[in-house]
Amino acid sequence: MTAPVTTAPSWIDEFPARIAALDAAHLRRRRRAVLPAAGAHLLVDGRPMLAFCSNDYLGLAGHPALAEAACAGARAYGVGSGGSPLVSGHSQANALLEQELAQFVQLPRALYFYAGYGANVGIVPALVGAGDALFSDALNHACLIDGARLSRATVHRYPHADLAALAALLAASDARRKLVMTDAVFSMDGDVADIRALLALCQQHDALLLLDDAHGFGVLGPQGRGSLAEAGLAGAAASPRVLYMATLGKAAGVAGAFVAGPEPLVEWLVQKTRSYIFATAAPALLAQALRASLGLIAAGDGRRAQLAARIAQLRAGLAPLLAGSPWQLGPSGTAVQPLVIGANDEALAVMEALRERGLWVPAIRPPTVPEGTARLRIALSAAHTEADVQQLLAALAEVHARLHPPCPPTGESALPDPA
Ligand SMILES: *Cc1c(COP(=O)(O)O)cnc(C)c1O
Repeated sequence: MTAPVTTAPSWIDEFPARIAALDAAHLRRRRRAVLPAAGAHLLVDGRPMLAFCSNDYLGLAGHPALAEAACAGARAYGVGSGGSPLVSGHSQANALLEQELAQFVQLPRALYFYAGYGANVGIVPALVGAGDALFSDALNHACLIDGARLSRATVHRYPHADLAALAALLAASDARRKLVMTDAVFSMDGDVADIRALLALCQQHDALLLLDDAHGFGVLGPQGRGSLAEAGLAGAAASPRVLYMATLGKAAGVAGAFVAGPEPLVEWLVQKTRSYIFATAAPALLAQALRASLGLIAAGDGRRAQLAARIAQLRAGLAPLLAGSPWQLGPSGTAVQPLVIGANDEALAVMEALRERGLWVPAIRPPTVPEGTARLRIALSAAHTEADVQQLLAALAEVHARLHPPCPPTGESALPDPA
C-alpha cells in the first residue's frame, strides 16, 4: 500500500516565492566571481574594480612568499589533511604553527582551527552549558551568538560596550560559571573593546573572558601581536581568566583561526570542542603559508605603517565633506572605517554610484547593523596606495554633492536671476 498523494500545497514549493520576497525587500545577497589583480584591484565578474571590502588588511593574501610556502607545503604533505586532528590530521606543520602562534601572541598555548566560525561555535559550548551564564556584547559577531545558542547557557546581552550594564548583569547572576564574550575590534564599527576594564569585571565576578580579535590580530599591538598585547595583557601580564581567539583569514592573509590562553583551558578545548574533534583538520599547506605570514608580520616590513597612513588619509579627507552632513564617520582608528549613511536605500544608492565609478565598497544594512545605521563599511589595507584612497575620496565627494547639494546662501543672491 502506498500513501495517498497529497494535494495540499507543499512548503517545498514555496522557495521561489520566498526568494522573490527577499528580492522585493532588497535583501537578496549575490556573490560575484573575483579574480585578484595588482594591489587592491580585482576583476569582478570580469570588470576591473578597486576594492575597499577585503579583510586582507596587510595585503598579505597575494604575497609570493605565502604562495611559495603553500606550494612547498603541498609538495611535502600533500593537499588534504586526511582526518580530524585527534585522529591523523594533526600535521607536524599544524603543530609547529600552534607553537609559533602561542609565542607570537605571548600566551602559553594555542589551538589551530580550520575557520573562525567553526572555532567560536565550538569553543563556547565547550566552556559553558545549561545552568551557566553567558554575557555577550550586543554587537558581537554572529559566530559567538551561534556558539551561545548551541551552549544552552543563559544568555545576557548587554548594550554595546556598556560596562555598567555588564557589571549589573554579572552582579545579579548567581550562576557559578560565567563567561563574558566580546569582539576585541567590532567588525562593523571598527571600535575597540576596553579589555582591561572587562578583565577587571571578570576578576571581580569570577568570570572567564573570551575575546574575538579577528580584526585586531596582525594589526594592533606591538608588531601586530593583537588587541590583548595592545592592552598590555600578554606575556608576563597574561591572565589565567582570558581566552584569546583570532582568525587567520584577515590580516594574516590565509584562512583559519586559533584560540590561545592558559594550558589547562586550551587542553580542555582540545578534549571538548565538537567542531574541533569532528571536523577534518586544516591542510598542512595552509599552516605552512601561515607560518610564512607570521614571519612577515613579526618582521614588520612597514605594512602596518602603510595601513595607518591610509586610515589617517581617509579620515582627514572625509572630515570637510562630513561637516554638517547627515553622513557620519564612526570613531574608528582601525582598518574598518564605518561611513554611516542612515537609510537603507540611500546606502544602497551610494554603493551603486561608487560601483559605477569602479569602486567596490559594501553597504551593510540591518539586521547586520542596528536599524537606521545602514553604512558603507570601508575596509582599508596596506595594499591600498595613496592614489587609491584619493580616488575613493573624490568619488564620495561627488556622490555626496549629488545627494546632499550644499544649501544656497540665504538672501536675494540665492534666487535665480530674473530673465
Ligand atoms: C570573520 C570573523 C569570524 C569568522 O572567522 P572565519 O575564519 O571567517 O570563519 C569570527 N569573528 C569575527 C569577529 C569575524 O570578523
